[in-house]
Amino acid sequence: MSETEIRDPDAFEARLANFLYESFEEARAVRVGEKETSEQAAIIERYADLFTRPQLEALSEAESREATSGASADDLERLYRLRKTCEGGIVGAELAEREDALENDLLAARVAWKEEEMPLRTAQARLALLDDYGERDELGERQAKVSAGFNGERLQLVAAAESLEVELSAQPDPIRRSEEEKGISLHELASALTEASARLDERWSELRKRWFDRLLGAGRDDIPRQHQTAYMRRLSPLAGTYTRDRATEICLDTLARLGFDLSAMPNIQLDLDDRPQKSPRACVIASRPPEVVHLITRAQGGLHDYEALLHEAGHALHYGGCDPALPYAFRALSRDHALTEIYSYITAKIVNEPGWHEHYFSLSEEVARENAEAGLFLEVLLFRRYVAKLQFELEFWQRFSADGGTEKGYAERQEEATGVRYRPDWYLSDMDSGFYSADYLRAWIRSAQLRVSLIEEVGDDWWKSAKTGEFLRSLFREGTRPSNEEIAARLGFEPLDCAPLLAELGA
Ligand SMILES: [Zn+2]
Repeated sequence: MSETEIRDPDAFEARLANFLYESFEEARAVRVGEKETSEQAAIIERYADLFTRPQLEALSEAESREATSGASADDLERLYRLRKTCEGGIVGAELAEREDALENDLLAARVAWKEEEMPLRTAQARLALLDDYGERDELGERQAKVSAGFNGERLQLVAAAESLEVELSAQPDPIRRSEEEKGISLHELASALTEASARLDERWSELRKRWFDRLLGAGRDDIPRQHQTAYMRRLSPLAGTYTRDRATEICLDTLARLGFDLSAMPNIQLDLDDRPQKSPRACVIASRPPEVVHLITRAQGGLHDYEALLHEAGHALHYGGCDPALPYAFRALSRDHALTEIYSYITAKIVNEPGWHEHYFSLSEEVARENAEAGLFLEVLLFRRYVAKLQFELEFWQRFSADGGTEKGYAERQEEATGVRYRPDWYLSDMDSGFYSADYLRAWIRSAQLRVSLIEEVGDDWWKSAKTGEFLRSLFREGTRPSNEEIAARLGFEPLDCAPLLAELGA
């Protein structure tokens, strides 16, 4: 192997596809608990020739050349994505060993609980299951303390990644850099969302009171702690209705009614098993779209399982449904995650439809409506939580070059938005890189616009109509090529028009 080999964009793209396949497969094995240690660094080492500064320069030159020779927008977009992936890869390669070390430390960390020494992730998963309020607070506090013990390591990694990004992208401002990549203004997004969140104040205080009481019991703290949220998200008091056993069957049937027969799609591999080290967070790993897409969930019982499975199925159908003839850059690479999250949100929204509850769980109209409202309660809670996350992240990065990143404002913003008390030192566990919160929020706005369009085109039964599936399938064919905001234009909406979302959430 020649470390100095520089590839043209086509050859780079082909080898990148192989690298990402191996890297994703490794991440999957660790995430689902098949492997105890992560060996990403070894894979990155084997592909070290992809992520070098000379390679980045070569891609950058190819891009400039094409730009001046009148290449199509698609060609330029493809080159942009290859260059940014190379840039991210250099950062990833330089930090791989430290990332692995942190990941392995987290896997090795244990939380002491009632004669037991349990893995950190088991403790986090257990929080959703404990039926006793006080025990949840106690276990939650223990796991949060263990987790916060890694904040030093986490922050060092954040800082190291940022300084590499500054150097490679020549854009010193992390917010501007992210805005360029996403093609939007984060400040305009945040201000539209802040207004939308405020318009939900009244609705939220009514939902909050009713459902906090119902889910946590009358003896709850007025402002419960963050350790209660996983339990609330599971809607445990409704767990008798939304059992773990039926989740897969019902979700697959729900998708079948849209015209997607997931079990007949060999390219989408389902992993629904329970393993001690398996992360409780559901996810999709698209190792090689559209041929190899993994859909991973860890069912625990409760409506949340259904919502999570439908959400991830939206991603899986998107990646698994892209046109295989598209260049790899438009099947697997994207500027951000705001497009694919539209598709997961729209499938997950089905659990907010009273008719869905009535149909699958033999409930009366009244109970079905009440349970669907539970889904809406969670959505408003999460929406407000994410708006607060975005506000905090903007402040965090605005201050970063001066103070190196602090928790200032995190817990306050969360408490004000949700009425839940967060530990200030939870801020790093709660922060995904690259303003992922903004991508979720864009998808929130867009999926509500999409739902309104579907109701207009297909009707109120959009959630069980094959016509919805047909429409989605045509979007999936395009892979990762369109931006989130391009979908707004196709639906006939302004990108920041939150009216459909506010109407849906009942503002
Ligand atoms: Zn998602």
